[in-house]
Amino acid sequence: MSLVLLMAKFIFITGGVLSSVGKGIMTSSIGKMLQIRGYSVSTLKIDPYVNVDAGTMNPYIHGEVFVTEDGGETDLDLGHYERFLDINLTKISNLTTGQVYASVIGKERRGDYLGQCVQIIPHITDEIKSRIRSVAKASGADVLLIELGGTVGDIEGQPFLEAVRQFRLEEGFENTLFVHVALVPILDSTKEQKSKPCQHSVQEMRRIGIQPDIIVARCRDPLEPEVKKKISLFGSVPYGAVFASYDVEHIYQLPIRLDEQGMGEYVTKRLGLDGRAASWSAWSALVDSFVAPTKAVKIAMCGKYTKLADSYVSITEAIHHSAAKVGVQAALDWIETTKFEENPSAIDMLSNYHGIIVLPGFGARGTEGKINAIKYARVNKKPFLGICFGFQLAAIEYARNVLGLDGANSTEVNPNTPHPVIDLLPEQRSIGTMGGTMRLGSYKILLSEGTMTNKLYGATEIFERHRHRYEINPDYWQRLQDAGLAFSGWSTDRRRVEFLELPSHPYFVGSQAHPEFKSRPGKPSPPFYGFIAASAKLA
Ligand code: GLN
Repeated sequence: MSLVLLMAKFIFITGGVLSSVGKGIMTSSIGKMLQIRGYSVSTLKIDPYVNVDAGTMNPYIHGEVFVTEDGGETDLDLGHYERFLDINLTKISNLTTGQVYASVIGKERRGDYLGQCVQIIPHITDEIKSRIRSVAKASGADVLLIELGGTVGDIEGQPFLEAVRQFRLEEGFENTLFVHVALVPILDSTKEQKSKPCQHSVQEMRRIGIQPDIIVARCRDPLEPEVKKKISLFGSVPYGAVFASYDVEHIYQLPIRLDEQGMGEYVTKRLGLDGRAASWSAWSALVDSFVAPTKAVKIAMCGKYTKLADSYVSITEAIHHSAAKVGVQAALDWIETTKFEENPSAIDMLSNYHGIIVLPGFGARGTEGKINAIKYARVNKKPFLGICFGFQLAAIEYARNVLGLDGANSTEVNPNTPHPVIDLLPEQRSIGTMGGTMRLGSYKILLSEGTMTNKLYGATEIFERHRHRYEINPDYWQRLQDAGLAFSGWSTDRRRVEFLELPSHPYFVGSQAHPEFKSRPGKPSPPFYGFIAASAKLA
């Protein structure tokens, strides 16, 4: 219970040597170690880029845009936090340089700093500190975990590190903890674990005025005692404050592996939290459900940004949550649908899969190939799940190939289509700017009684998160339904279609929303669960 504590504690997680060192999973794992001891936690991701949010960034380069309940378009790490910790975050949990400067410049224009020269120190750093405090306050959590994106030494991260340095002075040593995660590579030639890059990144932290309290070495294997000693000596932390984040079979194992090394106990002691027992049994059982199954279900992931698996990380996770619950392993193959456009007979490769997903997306490239994949799934009765753009293209495929509406399309893909089966949302027509202007976040959906979707959710009223500008055009509703396509989910005003399905098919479901964002380990998203269960029957 949060009542025992008088004030929140703050844990800052920084990264060294290179990016993608696993800070997001580390932050989630520290949160889990605290949660498992009964402390409430919340999280804040700081992204030092100048974009106001992640919504305008290319998922192929940056990774997935994660959508929060309140419609924030955020960094994918928020998805890791929500899934590991089973919490719902809001857009304030992702802070960027863009937001900080927009706010400070707004204040300057209003005259809030009248007479002053507005500077990085103190105005920008004050704004950062006040944002951190307001996230802590809004969450009411015992501990707030703050992950600093990027790598220590990046120019754009410096104002944030400076703010964090000041933050400790103001909040006190006993209420703040710095965890530095750095790579410890293993040389191919000598098989030696090399600690020098990690030492250097700690030195870089100290140059900024921050001495880490804990160093986590990201290494393929557990640390050699000698290497651990070196990191402790040169990093100037006790031997017992050096931990290893080594390769695990499944990411959900990491908090357990870290706790075994004493990290949970060290963190709680250092922050003066009362020593509570950790109970891992439920989480361990969950991890086992992911690792134990051996039967493989092969899924074709049809899309466009398929070179970076992180582009669809919430979908990947929703599939694995479902597979664990069904008791199978999902094997995912990423398929660029342009392949089906260049070589139509390539579509036959889909016979190798037990299920076909058509992924979300924007723009024209690859859409014809996606439509061909949907046709394949429909005609060959392969389990199919279409998410957002995949849902829209399923309606287009039906209009073209069942209703015979040649050239049916989305006006996003072909503004001059003779049959705009997918068209802009009416409220989008007057919108001219791109940032934060889609239909975003959680909306209630009414599920029609007796449909597959209704049965999967076990409810007639649900909430899912959205991110789109287009929808099924009402002018085509009647014709599509008369031809056998069932609309199983609606917005509350019944002015937009939210789910479609084919009653004559073993599993053919499309969702305008993104149910993947709410999927959790142990509690898979129902349409994903239904899809994997149906696919597993063919395996
Ligand atoms: N491009 C489509 C739209 O804006 C689908 C978006 C998506 O798949 N997230 O409506």
